[in-house]
Amino acid sequence: MNYDRRMTRQLMVGKVPVGGGAPISVQSMTTTKTDDVDGTLAQIYALAGAGADIVRVTCNTVEAAQGLAVMMPRSPVPLIADIHYQYKLALAAIEAGVSALRLNPGNIRKEEHIKVVAREALNAGIPIRIGVNAGSLDKDLLEKHGGPVPAALVESALLEAKYLNDVEFHDIKISVKHSNVPLMIESYRLLADTVDYPLHLGVTEAGPPPGGLIKSVAGISTLLSEGIGDTIRFSLTADPVEEAKAGRSLLEYLGLRERSSLDLIACPSCGRAEVDVIAVAEEANVRLGELGLPIQVAVMGCVVNGPGEAREADLGLAAGRGRGHLFIKGEVVRVVPEAEMVDALVEEALLLSEQGVEARIAAADVTAADLAEETRVELLSIQGDANRASERRAAVQRVAERDG
Ligand code: SF4
Repeated sequence: MNYDRRMTRQLMVGKVPVGGGAPISVQSMTTTKTDDVDGTLAQIYALAGAGADIVRVTCNTVEAAQGLAVMMPRSPVPLIADIHYQYKLALAAIEAGVSALRLNPGNIRKEEHIKVVAREALNAGIPIRIGVNAGSLDKDLLEKHGGPVPAALVESALLEAKYLNDVEFHDIKISVKHSNVPLMIESYRLLADTVDYPLHLGVTEAGPPPGGLIKSVAGISTLLSEGIGDTIRFSLTADPVEEAKAGRSLLEYLGLRERSSLDLIACPSCGRAEVDVIAVAEEANVRLGELGLPIQVAVMGCVVNGPGEAREADLGLAAGRGRGHLFIKGEVVRVVPEAEMVDALVEEALLLSEQGVEARIAAADVTAADLAEETRVELLSIQGDANRASERRAAVQRVAERDG
């Protein structure tokens, strides 16, 4: 799917371009104490490995800023210092060499403090994210608007942007996060209509999975499908590695980033299933996931519909009559006993990544496709055609041939 991306200014968070048509980046945030340099760096490496392009780290004490100074040269990804209440810690973070700042306009409120930070960020050549959050909105704005409504969030962001612009600071990225999904969506739409700064998307305080995942996907995907959004974060109450993985996967599933790891698709199973699809899919997911190959693999419960329905998959497995039917791009290439089918799937995935689709189809067992077809026909005769396709075809034919 092609999304017409909203054109925004571009800025650089370290080596990562944000906005202006750059790939949408995934962000996450550490949960360690920032003065624990080794623990925080270990988490940063884990987040980068899970798909985070940029990591935010809290900078809430002088020791945290000192920790950032040590981490910056060793981090695999750019680090953003998260600043609340104490503008002087923003200055300390700049001194530490961070790639960007995040300021919360709801709790650093003095205009002169914001401008001091902006001047120093300008000198250092780093961007600032204006991170508005419905839960910590300035109380004057809450009173004026009667609550954390989209207009209040956007007004908070625009006022902060004005302070920054006053000192010629323009490398700005904005977020207007809300924990209520429809209000989050409305806030970003309103903001996108008003400014051309790149936007960082997220549903704040989304909570633990699965609810937190669903809220984040609903809010972020809606906006991405409208072309809005330049970076994203899933704010989950979970190991942050999970949020980095989820963010990365969402972009891959939407076709906004290239596949970097396994995409396992599987049928939901039904009365036709010849195998425990859930158990087989779980085992395949774990074992193929360990290989780290960027391929799409299908696990289908029956050979009646499996190879056809999953013909887009690079590789697939369909069960039937005590056997596993391996297929590549919908073509059955090998038939193995059911007990060996996951082993065979893993083996074929490795061969496929080494040799490519054409070579593996050329190396197919010539009897496999016939055996799969025999099994399919056999199963249809036992179970019947659930879709009644042949019956319907005959009925359509009769209607078409009716006189007059
Ligand atoms: S592939 Fe077979 S078992 Fe799976 S849902 Fe479709 S018909 Fe049912």
